Amino acid sequence: MTSDLLTPSVRARALALPPEDLPAYLYDLAALREHAASVRAALPGHVELYYAAKANPEPQVLAALAPYTDGFEVSSGGELTHVARAVPGAPLAFGGPGKTPAETAAALAAGVERFHVESVQELHVLAETASRLRSGSRVGVLLRFNLPLDASSLKDSALSMGGRPTPFGLDPSDADTVVGLLAGGGFPRLDLRGVHAHLASGLGARAQTAVAESVVAWAERLFERHGTTLHEVNVGGGMAVDYASPGKRFDWTAYGVGLARLTASRPGLRLRIEPGRALTAYCGWYATEVLDVKHSHGEEFAVVRGGTHHLRTPVTKGHDQPCEVLPVEEWPHSWPRPRAHRDLVTLTGQLCTPKDVLAGRVPAAGLRAGDRVVFALAGAYAWNISHHEFLMHPRPGFHFLDA
Ligand SMILES: *Cc1c(COP(=O)(O)O)cnc(C)c1O
Repeated sequence: MTSDLLTPSVRARALALPPEDLPAYLYDLAALREHAASVRAALPGHVELYYAAKANPEPQVLAALAPYTDGFEVSSGGELTHVARAVPGAPLAFGGPGKTPAETAAALAAGVERFHVESVQELHVLAETASRLRSGSRVGVLLRFNLPLDASSLKDSALSMGGRPTPFGLDPSDADTVVGLLAGGGFPRLDLRGVHAHLASGLGARAQTAVAESVVAWAERLFERHGTTLHEVNVGGGMAVDYASPGKRFDWTAYGVGLARLTASRPGLRLRIEPGRALTAYCGWYATEVLDVKHSHGEEFAVVRGGTHHLRTPVTKGHDQPCEVLPVEEWPHSWPRPRAHRDLVTLTGQLCTPKDVLAGRVPAAGLRAGDRVVFALAGAYAWNISHHEFLMHPRPGFHFLDA
C-alpha cells in the first residue's frame, strides 16, 4: 500500500460513489493528457509517436491521446473498426500475427497507412488483395522481424519476444529473400518502406535506446545489401512500467536524447515508436469496497467487491497491484465490524479460485469491511484483458473524469 497513488479527482470520486456503484474503473483524462504531453515533449519532434491501441482502447482514452500522437497501431480487424470510429481520420498502422484475408481487405478499404507484414504468407495475401483495389495507389509496408537482442540490453526486460522462437514477425534468416522479392518488383502494388520490430517489454530507457540502435543498424545493412532505400523504422513499444515502484516512470527524456542521437546522422530516416502500457497505465484506477475481513491459518484476507475478472493485470504479470486504502467511518450495522488485526492483509476478489488475488500481504493494519480500496496503474492491459464472464458477477462502472 502506498500513498500519493491517486489524483484528487480520483480520490473524491472513489469516496463519493455509493457501494452499489462499486467496483468502478476511474480514468483521469486530465492526468492522461498531461502525461501524454510530457512524453511528446520529451521526444524529438521528428520522431513519430503511435499508440498501441490494445493497451487500452476506450474511445475516451483514444480521443484524449489523439492530439499528442501521430497515429494508432491496431492489431485486429476489430481494433481497426473501433479506432477508426473513435478517432476519425487518425493514421493507422495495422499489425499483428494471423491477419485474415477479410481483415486485410478491410484495412485496405479503410486506407491504413502502414501494414506491418509478419510473414511471407501475409505478403502474398496482402499483394493479392491490393491487386484488386480499383485505385492505383500503392500500399506502404514495413516488414516485422524477430531480431536477436543483445543479452546485455535485456537485463531488466520482463517479457522478451525478440531473438527466441515466437510466432511474431519474420525470422531474420528469411530477411534477404523477402526484401529481395519486394525490392526486385515482385509485388508491384506494395511499397516497401522499411522495418518494424517490437522485441521486448519492460525495458528502461537505456536498454530501449540500445534496442532501437541495433534495429536501425540491422535494417540499414539489410536494405543496403539490396541497394534499396530504408525510409522508415518502427522500433515498437515495451517501455517499462514499474508496478512495484509506481512513482518511478520510464525516463522519456533520456530516451528522447538517445533517439535524437540515433537520428542525427540519418536525416532521411523516419523513426517511429509505438508504446501502449507506458502511455495509459497511469491514467486508470479500479476502485472498490472491502466486503469482508477474515483470518485463515495465521494470515488475513480482505475480500473486495469485484476481483481479477475485472483487473487481471496482477495475475498475468505476477505482481501485487499497487493500491491505497480510503477509510470509511460509517458502519450502518448492529453487529461488530470485521477488521484486520495483523499488519499484512491479502486483498482478494469474489471469485471461487485461489488465484483471485489483487495484492498479497499488503501493509493495511486496521483495514475494515466498508473501507474503500483503490488500485492504481489500472489504465493499461486491465479491464480489456480480463475474463469478465467468469462467475457472472456484475460489470464495474466506468467513469471518465475530466476536471
Ligand atoms: C503490444 C504491442 C505494442 C505495445 O507494447 P507495450 O508494452 O504496451 O508498450 C507495440 N507494438 C506491438 C507490435 C505490440 O504487439
